[in-house]
Amino acid sequence: MPVITDVVCTFCGCLCDDLEVTVEDNKITKVGKACKLGRAKTMGMFLHERIEKPMIRKNGELEECSYEEAITKAAEILVAAKRPMSYGWCSTSCEAIEKALLLAEETGSLFDSTANVCHGPSAIATEEKGAPTCSLGTAKNYADLIVFWGCNPVHAHPRHQTRYSTMAKGAFTPNGKKDKKVIIVDPRSTDTAKKADLLLQLKPGTDYILVEALRAIVNGHEDVLPDEIAGCRRRL
Ligand code: SF4
Repeated sequence: MPVITDVVCTFCGCLCDDLEVTVEDNKITKVGKACKLGRAKTMGMFLHERIEKPMIRKNGELEECSYEEAITKAAEILVAAKRPMSYGWCSTSCEAIEKALLLAEETGSLFDSTANVCHGPSAIATEEKGAPTCSLGTAKNYADLIVFWGCNPVHAHPRHQTRYSTMAKGAFTPNGKKDKKVIIVDPRSTDTAKKADLLLQLKPGTDYILVEALRAIVNGHEDVLPDEIAGCRRRL
C-alpha cells in the first residue's frame, strides 16, 4: 500500500508537513500524525457538504442544471439586483478574488470579506503600524514566554503547542515546557488556559485598555494605573 510521507496539511495555519497518507485504489484510506481536524480534512470527511453539480431552485426545490443555465441565471440575478453585495472570499485563491472584484465593478456591487468580523482590525493596524513577526521555527527555537491572546490553539490549531510553542523543544529551550512561561489573555477560561501559567481573564471589549496598561508598565508609569484594569486585579 503506498504511503506518502511529509504531506502538508492544508487545514489550519500550522501547515504541519509531516503527515503520512495511505492511498488505496486512488483513495486516501488512512492519515497518520495529523490532529483530528487535519485527519478529517485530509480524509475528505467534509466532502458530503460540497455541491458537486450546478443547481437552480425551481418551485422551492434545488434541481440539477447545466453550467450554462446556472451561469445565465446567476448573471440575471446579479444584473437585476438593486444593491448587490459580494461577500466572503477568505477561503479562495487570489486569482478568484481578482475576478470577483472585476465582476463587482461591472455590477456595481459592494465588496467585503469575512475579515470585516474577524481579522479586519489586525490588517488595518498592520498597515498603519507594521507588525513584529517571526516564523514558527523562530518561535519554536527562541520563545521562552508565549502569550496566546484571544485564541484557543487547543481547539483551533491542535498541534501548534507541541510542534512550535508550549511543549516544543527548541535550540534555546531544550526542556520544552519547563523552559517556558505561557500566558493566556481571554475573557473565557479556555482549554488552552487550563495548562497555562497565567490567565488574564479580561472583560470582553477591554483588550485595548489592557494593552495600554501594559505599555504604561513597560514605560515605567505603573504608579498611575488603578488596582483593577480591564477586569483584572493588579498584584501590588
Ligand atoms: S494542527 Fe492539525 S489542522 Fe493544523 S495543520 Fe497541523 S494537522 Fe493540520
